[in-house]
Amino acid sequence: MSDTRHTRVLIIGSGPAGYTAAIYASRAMLEPVLVQGMEPGGQLTTTTEVENWPGDIEVQGPDLMVRMEAHAKAMGTEIIGDLITDLDLSKRPFTAKGDSGTTYTADAVILATGARAKWLGLESEEKFKGFGVSACATCDGFFYRGDEIVVIGGGNTAVEEALFLTNFASKVTLIHRRDELRAEKILENRLLKNEKIVPMWFHELVEVVGETDPLGVTGVRVKHTKTGEITEVPCKGVFVAIGHAPASELVAGQLETHMGGYVVTKPGSTETSIPGVFAAGDLTDHEYRQAVTSAGMGCMAALDAERFLASVE
Ligand code: FAD
Ligand code: NAP
Repeated sequence: MSDTRHTRVLIIGSGPAGYTAAIYASRAMLEPVLVQGMEPGGQLTTTTEVENWPGDIEVQGPDLMVRMEAHAKAMGTEIIGDLITDLDLSKRPFTAKGDSGTTYTADAVILATGARAKWLGLESEEKFKGFGVSACATCDGFFYRGDEIVVIGGGNTAVEEALFLTNFASKVTLIHRRDELRAEKILENRLLKNEKIVPMWFHELVEVVGETDPLGVTGVRVKHTKTGEITEVPCKGVFVAIGHAPASELVAGQLETHMGGYVVTKPGSTETSIPGVFAAGDLTDHEYRQAVTSAGMGCMAALDAERFLASVE
């Protein structure tokens, strides 16, 4: 059944930015509505240990996000399991259409749709997605007990995925296009000490190879970035961990974006190019992309929205 509901503040996204905005907006008595999207809890639900969330020496990503949701709810946020499929920012109140059939109208919108995993864009990667090719070790690692696996990438995600996958795999080959990692030193040290992990420097994936009946991966063909030499690495699983891109499709053509889709905000603020629309977290941050920075921006967005509403109401 389709219905329309109005809220003073609509928060789109349920990662650290969305839930923090919800906590602050609730405490400002703005009675926010938060729409969770396809991934309730956001990116941290796809990882295991988080070791840099202040106050928790170690916390499991999914547990932290369950706690944030409970916190937002306890403060009075209405949390809705829906996906926004269309957003009209051309006039106030702003209008968002939910996949459920509900139309949300809002006096202010906080965008916290975060980021999604990037893919290499190879035809063979697409062919084997879900049949040996994955972008989430915590989701799919379990299927590769005793198998050989490759991980592509050299950032924090790739290193964490490689370390996590050693819980299941007999061998993990980390394929990176340079000989220097982007990951934090503490993670790099763990990776280099782990006997199950073999780094393969200066290589890039050119093709995922496998069988079609049944569909499954048997290996990858990789190319040396300097010599061009092709090597085949046998494996059952390929984990692509080459970074994330902002989830800004909803606002494409409506808000100013830069650097591949990151929403532009006014320096020192979460204000976007449309008054009453605020953006927080990985959606707007090409630089830091951390849980704590996203949460910080979520706080700012709620405070900015509160000030905006006070100025127009
Ligand atoms: P996200 O967490 O990306 O959440 C986005 C939310 O928006 C999701 O809930 C999604 O469902 C929702 N959404 C998207 N589109 C729509 C839509 N159309 N309608 C409604 N909702 C929508 N950071 C750290 O600080 N420490 C770590 O240890 C750490 N580990 C990580 C491990 C991995 C594997 C990954 C991938 C990232 C890790 N990060 C870590 C980075 C951290 O997860 C992100 O910086 C943070 O989650 C960004 O928060 P966010 O709220 O901006 O967005
Ligand atoms: P990232 O830091 O952008 O790293 C992406 C890696 O993939 C880089 O090593 C890059 O190589 C490589 N790469 C990119 N495109 C490629 C391509 N087409 N082919 C081959 N390799 C490619 O992304 P991330 O590791 O997903 O991290 C994203 C953000 O989340 C970061 O800010 C990170 O700090 C944060 N995060 C934090 C934690 C933590 O705190 N523990 C954990 C996970 C993620 P180059 O190095 O050559 O560019």
